Amino acid sequence: MPLSNSCLYWLGNDYPEPKYFENIGLVSCAEDIPDIWGGILCINIDDPKQQHQVLRSMFSQPKFWSWTVYVIHSDHYSACLCDGTFDEHTAYNNWLDINQRIQKLSSIDQIEPLTGWLGILRSRRVIPFKKLNFLGIYQYPIVDAFYPELYSTYRFVFTESKRDMLEPEALIDRIRVCKHCNSGHLNYVEVCPNCKSIDIDVQSSLHCFTCGHVGDQQLFLRRGKLECPNCLTQLRHIGVDYDRPLETHRCNSCSHRFVEPDTISHCLNCEKQSETAELVIQKIYRYKLGQLGEYVYQHGKLLQAPELSIKGKVDAGYFENILTWLNKVALRHGEEHLLLAMHLPGLEAYSNRYGDNKMFALLDQITFRLNGLFRDTDICCQYKQDVLLVLMPKTPMANLSVLQNKIKQLSELIEEDEFVMHVSALKIPDTAVNEGAAAWLANAIRDIYATR
Ligand SMILES: [Zn+2]
Ligand SMILES: [Zn+2]
Ligand SMILES: [Zn+2]
Repeated sequence: MPLSNSCLYWLGNDYPEPKYFENIGLVSCAEDIPDIWGGILCINIDDPKQQHQVLRSMFSQPKFWSWTVYVIHSDHYSACLCDGTFDEHTAYNNWLDINQRIQKLSSIDQIEPLTGWLGILRSRRVIPFKKLNFLGIYQYPIVDAFYPELYSTYRFVFTESKRDMLEPEALIDRIRVCKHCNSGHLNYVEVCPNCKSIDIDVQSSLHCFTCGHVGDQQLFLRRGKLECPNCLTQLRHIGVDYDRPLETHRCNSCSHRFVEPDTISHCLNCEKQSETAELVIQKIYRYKLGQLGEYVYQHGKLLQAPELSIKGKVDAGYFENILTWLNKVALRHGEEHLLLAMHLPGLEAYSNRYGDNKMFALLDQITFRLNGLFRDTDICCQYKQDVLLVLMPKTPMANLSVLQNKIKQLSELIEEDEFVMHVSALKIPDTAVNEGAAAWLANAIRDIYATR
């Protein structure tokens, strides 16, 4: 792909004289955008509403995810879609960076726009945007721009994060929505716990000890003193002659007195009422590219992702099940197994430095060497992109030193000075595995990450 230096485009007023780019192309709408990879667009529109519309329509262009977009007037909405306010020098550097990455991508046309957008410029995030006229209050503008036909951008990011295409980075808000229509526009009303009427009042009442009468405090006031309106006893001392009942609320519909009202939510959109406990809780996160997203970005298609192809390799869910089962067997029969966790901490830096192709060549080499080390009965799992787990049945900890030696030899064989591999060994059985293999593994991996 030839690098062309005339790829800066301008939409709106007052375009500057370029210093770093040869020239500036003028566009007036999404259709004017040239069909190229890695262009730059700067939008200079005063009216925020018009700018929103223009921005949203731009992303319908097929190659637009590889472009950088800047504005002159930034706001919360543009921050969800753009790469900041325009500065030619920054734009030029980003452009160089992006074009380098584009060269490295083997199957660029097969990349999903959102995955590509996050992968090509690593500072990008999927950011929620709050707007009162949205039914669900929050929306993800970048998702909406790429997939305008989606009914709910919230559900999209939620599903994508479940399968690790996206990874939650920070919790921005937690909201409750109507279970019938997903509206976030709810009114909370206190009601009578007996008849559910909203017609309730707070009341200060008194309770006469002599006759047991309970009534509004106002009705007990006679000539500046307190007197029971029922039995006419003078009430002098609180706790001796009278007290205040706990029930400080009264229902005007059914006369029920109560301590605390119930709260129900009334949906302002579909008008249905729900108990507050029935409302759906949504966690609104800011997202970055997830583990799987990383794979898909680098290889275009999910199926083509060249993971370590080690014999006996299984996926994460299957590995967790086997671990649970083997752990139970071991507890029952007093057997001992070994779980090796290999962490390749330098992979990301390695890939940044030498490119993804070289990183995968390195992985290939590691695969080849590891295959010579393991037995047919060992079970492998590439649990994270940089963590490989190997379950070695019937291998006591005592054998570890032999294995350690082999692994040491192996890492020496790999012709790469930058290559670092940390290996930790965990003993099976561990009763904690029974409480959840996934959580147990997550813990173990957290420890591995912590030691780097
Ligand atoms: Zn009532
Ligand atoms: Zn009385
Ligand atoms: Zn509703």
